[in-house]
Amino acid sequence: MFGLIGHLTSLQHAQSVAKELGYPEYADQGLDFWCSAPPQIVDNITVTSITGQQIEGRYVESCFLPEMLANRRIKAATRKILNAMAHAQKHGIDITALGGFSSIIFENFNLQDNKQVRNIKLEFERFTTGNTHTAYIICRQVEQASKQLGIELSQATVAICGATGDIGSAVCRWLESRTDVGELLLIARNQERLQELQAELGRGKIMGLEEALPQADIIVWVASMPKGVEIDPTVLKQPCLLIDGGYPKNLATKLQHPGIHVLNGGIVEHSLDIDWRIMHIVNILDAPARQLFACFAESMLLEFEKIHTNFSWGRNQITVAKMEQIGAASIKHGFRPLLSS
Ligand code: NDP
Repeated sequence: MFGLIGHLTSLQHAQSVAKELGYPEYADQGLDFWCSAPPQIVDNITVTSITGQQIEGRYVESCFLPEMLANRRIKAATRKILNAMAHAQKHGIDITALGGFSSIIFENFNLQDNKQVRNIKLEFERFTTGNTHTAYIICRQVEQASKQLGIELSQATVAICGATGDIGSAVCRWLESRTDVGELLLIARNQERLQELQAELGRGKIMGLEEALPQADIIVWVASMPKGVEIDPTVLKQPCLLIDGGYPKNLATKLQHPGIHVLNGGIVEHSLDIDWRIMHIVNILDAPARQLFACFAESMLLEFEKIHTNFSWGRNQITVAKMEQIGAASIKHGFRPLLSS
């Protein structure tokens, strides 16, 4: 059995879907209440592969909200993730994806040192960040959507915002070794990590966001920001492809401007309807029967392939070979990168 640990994008989002999620008493409650809410299994899922194979899964709502980080409720945030993992393990789930901020909190606050959660000793091999599949899907979106827009990759400048992150660094590795990209612009705040990445890649220009935006033909957003940024579309090139892989979104507003093409990054479409309620309830993606986050799809793929191990784990260790491996499983079972905005 596979599992998905998810969370909602904001307190407002949580309040609006609380009733349908099965928590009517949470609908009018503020952040304090969500900080003390325990994790819950809120959905049973069946997925059918195009090979005919069928698997079962569970959706664990962690009750984490990004406002907990913005308001320095770090203890509550870390407790949410550990409790959700313990809940998944207690229910016998073999491989569970840590969706959205779950894996970021796990890494940033060194939760590997907190194996014991009450009477449960966490077995980390039962969890995956899902970031290898997410990075693979974003790279395929870069390759395929640029083609559709007539952007020639070998002539293109690609800016990666969040380049030193787990997903961002994997995207850079793929673009550097698997494609013939014109120029890579590396964006993040910590200069030391940027320099390490540049040395590893043997290329790429370190740049601030403001300087990079007007130069880029393609911008990949994979920064771990609790709130999206506002950008002025008139400073961008035309055409410009923006692939927003953040959850919550890195872009605060939906840009509508001629020549600017925004794509939901790290999202896959399955070839067959998935039997679940949760994605219909949370109402984040346009076609909830078939669209899902690539990190969630990773735990499904690992279950289909009976790879019950932490396939994606730690930070900045995603190799191109592992991206190719999970990519092959993705195609085999009927998932494809989202290409329509
Ligand atoms: P990491 O924490 O590993 O990396 C985040 C990166 O963003 C780092 O390079 C960090 O560098 C940079 N960053 C953070 N804040 C800013 C900022 N204000 N300005 C510029 N750069 C910034 O995160 P992941 O790679 O694990 O995840 C990245 C995003 O992808 C998250 O939003 C996550 O929720 C989303 N995601 C989407 C999935 C999907 O299925 N679609 C699956 C998993 C994650 P520095 O701190 O130096 O600035």
